[in-house]
Amino acid sequence: MLHRMFVVAALLAALAGLAGAGGTVEGLPLHVKQLAPGVVRVWVGDQISSTAVCAIATQKGIVVIDTTDIPKFDQAFRQVIAKELGRSDFKYLINTHGHQDHTNGNGVYADCQIIAHERVVEMMKESQGNVARQITWRTEDIQRQKDQIASGKLTPAQKTAAEERIILDTLSIEHAKSAPAPTFPTKTFTDKMTLDCGDVAFELYQAGGTHTKSDIFIFARQKGILFTGDMMCDKWLTDTPGCLATFAVHTGEVADYPVLVRHWQALLDRGGEIQMYVPGHWNGELSAAGFRSRFDYLQALLADVPAMIQAGKTFDQMVAEYTLQAKFPQLVGSPGIGPNGQRISIEHLYLIHTGKISMGQALWDMIRDDTFAAKFTPLRADVLKNRSKYFFSEAQLNAMGYVLLNEQKKPADALQVFELMRELYPESWNAYDSLAEAVYATGDKPKAMKLYRKSVELNPKNENGVKWIAKLETELK
Ligand SMILES: [Zn+2]
Repeated sequence: MLHRMFVVAALLAALAGLAGAGGTVEGLPLHVKQLAPGVVRVWVGDQISSTAVCAIATQKGIVVIDTTDIPKFDQAFRQVIAKELGRSDFKYLINTHGHQDHTNGNGVYADCQIIAHERVVEMMKESQGNVARQITWRTEDIQRQKDQIASGKLTPAQKTAAEERIILDTLSIEHAKSAPAPTFPTKTFTDKMTLDCGDVAFELYQAGGTHTKSDIFIFARQKGILFTGDMMCDKWLTDTPGCLATFAVHTGEVADYPVLVRHWQALLDRGGEIQMYVPGHWNGELSAAGFRSRFDYLQALLADVPAMIQAGKTFDQMVAEYTLQAKFPQLVGSPGIGPNGQRISIEHLYLIHTGKISMGQALWDMIRDDTFAAKFTPLRADVLKNRSKYFFSEAQLNAMGYVLLNEQKKPADALQVFELMRELYPESWNAYDSLAEAVYATGDKPKAMKLYRKSVELNPKNENGVKWIAKLETELK
């Protein structure tokens, strides 16, 4: 008898900590993992970067961390959690941040108190306003995945990832079309709060500014577990990084960074108490060293960018000199950290510390909100009058012009952006070339010809211009 019990106990111990295969949810493989006694983590998918929901059994009831983008998943997860923990007294839900793949399923826990940073509410409202665009994007993504599968060029893992994305996209579209009313947090906080659950205390810290403006750290003190949401990881478990892939200083206000640093530092100081770091998606892992190295990186950026501005460096000089390679060689290739994020961080801090207005952002907002007709002309007038107020580059203006021309199919609007680009960069052959293309798209071939000639005059090596001139010569005959 004793012997048999020992075998069972050993077997259970061996199983604990393993990701159990628990059937499927909506055709996606279900995974359940015990992180510690009374702490489980649940997710779907073998390859996609899906949200991992965690649940902690406490004296005051079950505390759930995050929901997913598909409430059907959360309904299934709730049952799985109850079964795993052997109880069903759900008491609290905590959202790590406001992204919809962490809040869409909140309604499944409408009977609980839902706790989050105060900015989660506005983020949830913002994503509600984007529903139409999301349906379009998801529909296009399904086609992209299908095309890739049909190409026969995917590895088995890539094929699984594509198939799983199609399921997720399909469910997301179905969910968006049902236009559900969001379930907002019922209790929010600004700086920090403690949730006392008897045998476990949850310390919640504002940590916005690198992933979203609403991120928090959640430290389950007696469990020794720190939940870090989508802010970071330092090891990938799959080739589809997803949400954790962009560590950058880009979504906070200047006043947020000191708070983020203070809270992060406080947790680093208590590093000995933290036994496990748990990111918000299952396919990234985080170590104590990764947690610290990202803090050091953030600290360096926050100090060095303003110092470079003080020293009179231009934005372009900073981007050229302050590279990952040169300044943080140990982080090159580290998950979530790359040249793009580095550039975003420098740009964001540059804008904050110089007080300049980003023209790229202003144009992007106009395209997104469909306010180009009303807002572009006054912006253009102000830019030409007060240049130093604005942050812009030729490449940025060119890119926005092409978004209008090729993606938005609005040649008349694109023409105005390229016209401004030419006014700001009168010696640029490329400004004439881009403008010519928009003019051609509006139907004025003789004018397009003139502009291409000017572009080639400025740069005889402009092969695109030479080709267009030949084409227009035939068309104008
Ligand atoms: Zn996120």
